[in-house]
Amino acid sequence: MRYDLVIIGGAVAGSPAAIRLARAGWNVLVIERDAFPRRKVCGEYLSPTNEPVLRALGLGDWFHEVAGPPVGRLALFARDQVIEAPVPTGIRGSGARQLVADGGPGPRLCGRALGRDLLDAELARTARAAGAGWWQPAKVTGMQKIGEGWRLQVRVGAGAAGHPATSASRAGVVEVDTALLLAAHGSWGRGLPTMPTPREARANDLFGFKAHFFGGNLAPALMPALAFDGGYGGMVITDGGRISLSCCVRRDELERMRARHPAAQPGDSVVAALRSRLRGVREALQGTEPDGRVMAAGPIRPAIRGGWRDDVFATGNAAGEAHPIIAEGISMALQSSWMAAGQLLDGGGGDPLAAAADRQVIGRRYDRAWRRAFAPRIRAAAVFARLAMSPRLVAALTPCYLRWPALLTWNARLAGKARVVVVPAPVDGGEAPRPGRRPAA
Ligand SMILES: Cc1cc2nc3c(=O)[nH]c(=O)nc-3n(C[C@H](O)[C@H](O)[C@H](O)COP(=O)(O)OP(=O)(O)OC[C@H]3O[C@@H](n4cnc5c(N)ncnc54)[C@H](O)[C@@H]3O)c2cc1C
Repeated sequence: MRYDLVIIGGAVAGSPAAIRLARAGWNVLVIERDAFPRRKVCGEYLSPTNEPVLRALGLGDWFHEVAGPPVGRLALFARDQVIEAPVPTGIRGSGARQLVADGGPGPRLCGRALGRDLLDAELARTARAAGAGWWQPAKVTGMQKIGEGWRLQVRVGAGAAGHPATSASRAGVVEVDTALLLAAHGSWGRGLPTMPTPREARANDLFGFKAHFFGGNLAPALMPALAFDGGYGGMVITDGGRISLSCCVRRDELERMRARHPAAQPGDSVVAALRSRLRGVREALQGTEPDGRVMAAGPIRPAIRGGWRDDVFATGNAAGEAHPIIAEGISMALQSSWMAAGQLLDGGGGDPLAAAADRQVIGRRYDRAWRRAFAPRIRAAAVFARLAMSPRLVAALTPCYLRWPALLTWNARLAGKARVVVVPAPVDGGEAPRPGRRPAA
């Protein structure tokens, strides 16, 4: 069977495009490697700028019911300092006025955290309900250009859901043809031409860690950023009232942390180091019980890659990855996915054949829109990460943040936390009228 569009990866960068295009009548297939629900190394915070996309997906109410409490304050935990500031208000961007008019200011326009086990599974369910094909667990292992389209090799797991041979008890490799291809496979995999090329291990490679805790003393409305020698991180209350603690640590610093706790698992030695180095973490985690083990991933590869390369559309981390210190990766994934689908629908006048014929023009247009929307925050994140990881710079800057806590609010604004980049649409997937200026589709 030949599809209009195949999407590699069914997480936050894959599902929104699948939902939007399947609703428009396209023959879409999503291929997802992992079985859901699954946990993921991710801080789980979603900025309020996702409200339009969540609503357009029909998940706005669901999100506010299941996610953690509204986040109203930011903080910086650096050594013994705990500095607080409000989140940026006055959401900006092409659709902001309509968003505020529809939802009104207040908790609906606050960010919240939600576990990726719940979020990704609900997005997948919505995509299937919209009519998208969905193979899972199934891994794309190869891709070749065939004429005007693509041929993919897919390793389908035994009993994989959605695949025509679902009843087969044996795993196997099948081929799939598609006119258009969307890479939404994140940036941690290897082996496809759209994935980052492997490189030699470096001392400054960053590894991601993530832990959940029951109990503790983190204020529900507070989202602290953590700055420590050789790394950075964040905390927030997520669904179920648990604390989500996530961080990135340089390879050389990780080795030092492990040397101090040789008997511990790497993730446990990281959490122990954060407790001992940061007063804010120590106090927040007092009396907590871990919920599961500390997860690890990496090395991560923050970079601007672009939304259109070598005849492939890309969304989420596959298009560009910000240092997680700004907690914007999920937002960029959801929003770029919605945006790419909008460009395909616009460019082809809704017709997949016309979109495929015109894909070079559509791809370049999407790439420009993607860069305008997301490249500035990826650059800002690189600066913040560098500052947070350097003991010298943290020592020099902490007095400034103590004196002017509003700097934290300003940093969050630079990170895109108050910028709406996709056009709001009403619940149930109907398309909203476009606002006048530079809509990003
Ligand atoms: C420590 C840490 C903390 C973070 N905290 C936050 C935060 O609080 N807020 C925030 O917004 N962002 C955060 N992020 C960033 C965020 O997790 C990512 O930016 C986001 O997950 C990217 O989404 P994605 O869909 O592009 O990729 P992914 O979430 O990586 O999903 C890619 C999907 O593709 C699938 N896949 C991969 N290869 C294949 C293949 N060959 N075939 C089929 N399927 C495949 C995978 O199984 C996966 O489900 C954090 C990241 C880290 C490391």
